[in-house]
Amino acid sequence: MLAEKVKKAIRDIPDYPKKGIIFKDITTLLNNGELFAEVVDYFANKYKDVDFVCGIESRGFIFGGAIAYAMKKGFVPLRKKGKLPYTTVSEKYALEYGFDEIEIHIDAFKNIKNPKVLLIDDLIATGGTAEAAVKLIQKVGGEVLAAGFLIELSFLDGVKKLENLGVKVDSILK
Ligand code: IMP
Repeated sequence: MLAEKVKKAIRDIPDYPKKGIIFKDITTLLNNGELFAEVVDYFANKYKDVDFVCGIESRGFIFGGAIAYAMKKGFVPLRKKGKLPYTTVSEKYALEYGFDEIEIHIDAFKNIKNPKVLLIDDLIATGGTAEAAVKLIQKVGGEVLAAGFLIELSFLDGVKKLENLGVKVDSILK
């Protein structure tokens, strides 16, 4: 099963980036080409109807970019404040550890009416980041068909925040 393989391929890093946090390190999974491709294909085969894949900086770029390529769909980056060169819309959110702000280009979905979007990140914890991402996509006219994650820390209940915005969550490993 894919979830089992993912579980075996990632590792826990205690006290990173702060004392008391157990960080899920996914670089060990990326190192396994077969499994990386399996994860990409899982999402690419399931969401053929979307017009765009949106990825959250920065690990969401690794999976989202590969998924968009596999689907031959456009990729839209959601970036940390100050990183996108053109006019942006931004959203503040609380992190598992601190505060942050992400942005999207105002014309991210240019030329497509009612664009359907697959949102991708590596991990959902409190859901604050993904919630901000969904709000940004909606602000610039996109409809999020699903939010896909490699890992969901279910005990933090982040999924509820997305469900409240009408977004279906699809996590490989819970
Ligand atoms: P949330 O906003 O609390 O859901 O945190 C999710 C965001 O923080 C995502 O962009 C993740 O990439 C990052 N993140 C939080 N904890 C971890 C972790 O243990 N491993 C990898 N990324 C994490």
